[in-house]
Amino acid sequence: MKRILVTGGTGYIGSHTTVELQNAGYEVIIVDNLSNSNAEIVGKIAKITGIRPEFVQADCIDSAALKQVFERYPGIEGVIHFAASKAVGESVEKPLLYYRNNIVSLLNILELMPDYGVKGLVFSSSCTIYGQPKKLPVDENAEIQPATSPYGNTKQINEEIIRDAIYSGAPYKSIVLRYFNPIGAHPSAEIGELPLGQPQNLVPIVTRTAAGVRKEMFVFGDDYNTPDGSCIRDYINVVDLSKAHVIAMDRILNSNSEKLEYFNLGTGRGLSVLELISLFEKSTGVKVPYKIVGRREGDIEQIWADPTRANRVLGWKAEESVEDTLRSAWEWQKRL
Ligand code: UDP
Repeated sequence: MKRILVTGGTGYIGSHTTVELQNAGYEVIIVDNLSNSNAEIVGKIAKITGIRPEFVQADCIDSAALKQVFERYPGIEGVIHFAASKAVGESVEKPLLYYRNNIVSLLNILELMPDYGVKGLVFSSSCTIYGQPKKLPVDENAEIQPATSPYGNTKQINEEIIRDAIYSGAPYKSIVLRYFNPIGAHPSAEIGELPLGQPQNLVPIVTRTAAGVRKEMFVFGDDYNTPDGSCIRDYINVVDLSKAHVIAMDRILNSNSEKLEYFNLGTGRGLSVLELISLFEKSTGVKVPYKIVGRREGDIEQIWADPTRANRVLGWKAEESVEDTLRSAWEWQKRL
């Protein structure tokens, strides 16, 4: 059984990916500092898969602690690196925290990998690196634009660090996955996006409003240059997204793929904020009171993926409909 280290494995995408890795026969070691998740997730994963992943509470910015993990679990073949700070707004207020967390963690991992014979890294990047693309849908060859937040900048710098390390002849491969907007929860409703602190993302806000936790929600802007005036995104089911990580790891370990590859992970379909709210109402039968307010600073007007490369090269495709995905988010909200 192949051993994979999953950093940030109790987090939103990390926990779903751990489930898919285990289902595919990998042994998973989770490292997480629990800064934005909790240890109970380990038990929830075990409930879904029947296998309890190994769990070490540690911070990836602590190189000595990471080294201990590699010592304690010999033979780790691949790392999937999710652990990172991810709130755009917070990153503007605490840029140094973001640079330290997101950059030092990656450096530590890349420095340790060769010492332990780790063959590959799958890295969580984001479509935020494309800024507002000139051409839509956006493919992997699109120009990378100056970041609009420290968070976005850490993703760009991380990509550059990986590229430079690989080109310098590092003895490992990497696949960089550029996520569009992951939403939804596991169909078991055992795991999902945990609302620690105030959620900033659209779907958790929609489900909380539907549940009455909030009286109403705000739609940030209806005067964009889009058909209904609200912003457009590509919302991708979190389980579908997670499966791409398993395929990427298989590809690194079991094929003679290139040393460094990039893939967009999205559905290829753009949905506006207003369309998403209306689809949620239609698929759950629950009303979401909303009010249109001014634009949110820093928002991209419209972006959706050209996922052709992932479809063709990875043989991966978004399978779940947005309707089912929104229903899974609602089931998860009710569980909370
Ligand atoms: N959005 C909104 N109301 C909210 C939260 C988000 O209208 O309470 C909009 C936001 O302006 C953006 C879209 O929903 O156009 C997706 O926002 P999210 O923060 O989920 O993702 P990102 O902006 O990072 O793509």
